[in-house]
Amino acid sequence: MKKEEHFDTIIIGGSYSGLAAGMALGRALKRVLIIDSNTPCNRQTPYSHNFITNDGKTPAEMASVAKQQVQAYPTVHFFNGLAVQGSGTNNAFKITVAPGETFSGDKLIFATGIKDIMPNMDGFSDCWGISVLHCPYCHGYEV
Ligand SMILES: Cc1cc2nc3c(=O)[nH]c(=O)nc-3n(C[C@H](O)[C@H](O)[C@H](O)COP(=O)(O)OP(=O)(O)OC[C@H]3O[C@@H](n4cnc5c(N)ncnc54)[C@H](O)[C@@H]3O)c2cc1C
Repeated sequence: MKKEEHFDTIIIGGSYSGLAAGMALGRALKRVLIIDSNTPCNRQTPYSHNFITNDGKTPAEMASVAKQQVQAYPTVHFFNGLAVQGSGTNNAFKITVAPGETFSGDKLIFATGIKDIMPNMDGFSDCWGISVLHCPYCHGYEV
């Protein structure tokens, strides 16, 4: 990808939300860049549940199928890495990614999810989504 390449829309975050936005825009023939650092919030949980048609799949499996489907749209491009800096206003955004490359876009979508803040307790973060559970409808049911 050329430096300073321009897109109709830059999407920061390429997990479920970012890919869903990318598909909709790809189907509108928009030139899109999805920047993703590949750390979705559910990455530790063994299986995802309660999402009809996908019950019991692994989070990675669901993301992989979603990405394959979005890759079928030739106007949607991907950059694997972290967006570290951004500036601009509507129709003139600039986003810098970790290796120091900059992309520009007319529109900007944040699909960066949320960051769970773990209490400072031994083992808590290692068990998050596995045996420390926040959602009875997700993996909580199995436990
Ligand atoms: C432990 C756990 C278990 C869960 N289990 C279930 C379940 O069983 N069923 C269910 O329906 N839901 C479940 N969820 C909820 C589900 O995971 C979230 O609703 C979903 O992941 C939200 O998708 P998202 O795309 O908004 O964010 P995320 O999936 O968190 O993705 C955000 C993406 O943005 C990227 N990103 C962030 N900042 C940057 C940046 N600066 N530059 C580049 N990329 C960036 C991240 O790397 C990541 O890939 C669970 C959540 C957790 C925490």
